[in-house]
Amino acid sequence: MPLTNTQYDSIMRIYDDIRTNNRHIQSDRYNEVITACPAIADIDYDIIDMSVKNARARIDANSSDTTTDELAAALKTLQQKRVSALASIGKPADYLDDIYTCPYCKDSGYVNGKRCTCFNKKAIDLIYKDSNLKNITSDENFNTFSYSWYNNIDVDPATGLTPYNNMQKVVSICHDFVDNFDNTFSNLLFIGQTGVGKTFLSNCIAKSLMDSYHSIIYLTAGEFFDSFKSGDYKDYGESKFDTSFFTECDLLIIDDLGTENSSSYNLSNLFYIINERLLRKKSVIISSNLEMPDIESVIISSNLEMPDIESRYSQRIFSRIVSAYSILRLFGDDIRCMKKLSHDKA
Ligand SMILES: [Zn+2]
Repeated sequence: MPLTNTQYDSIMRIYDDIRTNNRHIQSDRYNEVITACPAIADIDYDIIDMSVKNARARIDANSSDTTTDELAAALKTLQQKRVSALASIGKPADYLDDIYTCPYCKDSGYVNGKRCTCFNKKAIDLIYKDSNLKNITSDENFNTFSYSWYNNIDVDPATGLTPYNNMQKVVSICHDFVDNFDNTFSNLLFIGQTGVGKTFLSNCIAKSLMDSYHSIIYLTAGEFFDSFKSGDYKDYGESKFDTSFFTECDLLIIDDLGTENSSSYNLSNLFYIINERLLRKKSVIISSNLEMPDIESVIISSNLEMPDIESRYSQRIFSRIVSAYSILRLFGDDIRCMKKLSHDKA
């Protein structure tokens, strides 16, 4: 999983904190034990002394086997004495041992040069936090997606599909997007009115890809444009977005494009990121409720009428979106509204 340097550094700082914290616990335990049973301090001193003698004897060619055996036996006796002393104050034998939160990597993050499972866990936690999605995706993922909100009666004249059939097609494309994410470069543009499931599907995709350790940034269009305003960093509650992440992360999701103010500053930032990610072959998902009438003809024909998106975001951005994005039009009833109604009835 590609992590930015900043993300990597913050994971390493987490390990520093864990090790420091564990050392404090260990030291507190030692003080507690010595207060309850001062003899343990003397035993520890003897153990160190005996260990040194033992080690010396083993590398000294003049030592007889009897000497090394005797020293080893004496060391063992001391260790047993220590265990008994700990037991006398109700503590287990390993009470003063080094403490590791992860026994596999001993809180280093690595096992035999490879990232430990605890490292990957931390990376995901961090990415979820960075991506703004941690709370959303627990409810909104492919497992909780339901077709029951889409009617299978009213046929859309433009596509000849019912909302239900259209959604089946769209969801299948979303699954393909996830399944082929690592080998195929593609981008999605969800178009549709409020409440037809654009954000929900973005979240489904985000959740699946985050579970496979991909780095994802999710922003509303407002957050996206705001993050360019105050220098490199912008605070959103607990999350901090460095705009350089916008070109680096595996997937960038911009939700609700069209709700923000269309200043030339915003447009040039949008163009820069979209263009840069195209060059780097890094995927983007955009959702928008701006109308794009007659989408089929927009994709096929170069002789375009001026749909909303084009007039708002200029020919430059529009042509790039149309050429490199799969445009998925969602239609149907307002699900948020229906959910609210069914909730109110219940
Ligand atoms: Zn570990």
